[in-house]
Amino acid sequence: MPDVEITPKRIAGFIEPFRVEPGRKVRLPRDFDPADTREVSKADAKAILQAGVERLAEYQDRLAAQDTYGVVVVLQAMDAAGKDGTIKHVMSGVNPQGVSVNSFKVPSVEELDHDYLWRYQKALPERGRIGIFNRSHYEEVLVVRVHPQILAGQKLPAKMKGRGVWQRRYREINDWERYLTDQGFIFVKIFLNVSKEEQRRRFLARIDMPEKNWKVSSADAKERAFWDDYQKAFSDVLSNTSTEWAPWWVIPADDKPFARVAAAAVIANALIEIDPRYPTVSPEQLADLQATKDALEAEAPAGAAPDPIEAEILAKASKAGKAGGVGKAKKGKGKKG
Ligand code: ATP
Ligand code: MG
Repeated sequence: MPDVEITPKRIAGFIEPFRVEPGRKVRLPRDFDPADTREVSKADAKAILQAGVERLAEYQDRLAAQDTYGVVVVLQAMDAAGKDGTIKHVMSGVNPQGVSVNSFKVPSVEELDHDYLWRYQKALPERGRIGIFNRSHYEEVLVVRVHPQILAGQKLPAKMKGRGVWQRRYREINDWERYLTDQGFIFVKIFLNVSKEEQRRRFLARIDMPEKNWKVSSADAKERAFWDDYQKAFSDVLSNTSTEWAPWWVIPADDKPFARVAAAAVIANALIEIDPRYPTVSPEQLADLQATKDALEAEAPAGAAPDPIEAEILAKASKAGKAGGVGKAKKGKGKKG
């Protein structure tokens, strides 16, 4: 693997063009090119993805240890844009115990008996965890908008279905996300932007390759007939719900390796901004640890080093050219970052 140094600054610079500036009026497909790959080669994409995934794993560990913030990754896209593959690759390195994935389908009878945000609220991750929303509350202003009969079927008071319903939902969604952000739940909203022609190719691949047949659904092809309506609905969503506290990221998705790199970068960037820290140990706890260490060292059988681990750490540190060792670092103030 080529040696790719992924600094936080590089990540932030790389993803900047994909951010939807709050208040910006977006029109798809004009404003974001699904085929844009920033001239990242396939080999580089692989290496960067790997480095990004490693960074994600490290930050997820800290996020869990700190237990203060939760992260909600919202994935929205047209069919075959690569939501599943993105989840699989981007999350490949993280601890499965720290992640949940929720896929939102047509609401159940029970769900329809509640307000429209209920099922999404219920699926939120706990603090310290990353929750992936494979489709999300945005379906409530996408598929529901494209197919008015779905709204008609929701058990809302009649006057709530009339004019202004979409603007009101944008406001409600923005408010809900803001409330949650204030509570420590950070939204990372990703739109995988695939082109109509690339979707056609992927549908055909699913039909022509037997091992992909299981993914084919004639419903998807029917939904494709509403392509322009979806582009309009997505444009409106991006224009109205990209906020300072929860901006949208439009990721070019015609090239799968690139889309995965970009998605990993956006999520890594969010974690870097949260900057979760391992809890610090109090002087009392440190004294306690030292007492336990002393007791364990006293138990060393004849001929064994009292603390073989410390010896290993010291050896590693001196090999890396660092002075001092972990056991001795207690007096220093060195901050890990
Ligand atoms: P895959 O096809 O890869 O399994 P998917 O997300 O497309 O993943 P499907 O079961 O094919 O899953 O589709 C789920 C369907 O549910 C989508 O058409 C989506 O628009 C629809 N849906 C999601 N949320 C709502 C909602 N709130 N109201 C109505 N339909 C919804
Ligand atoms: Mg589907």
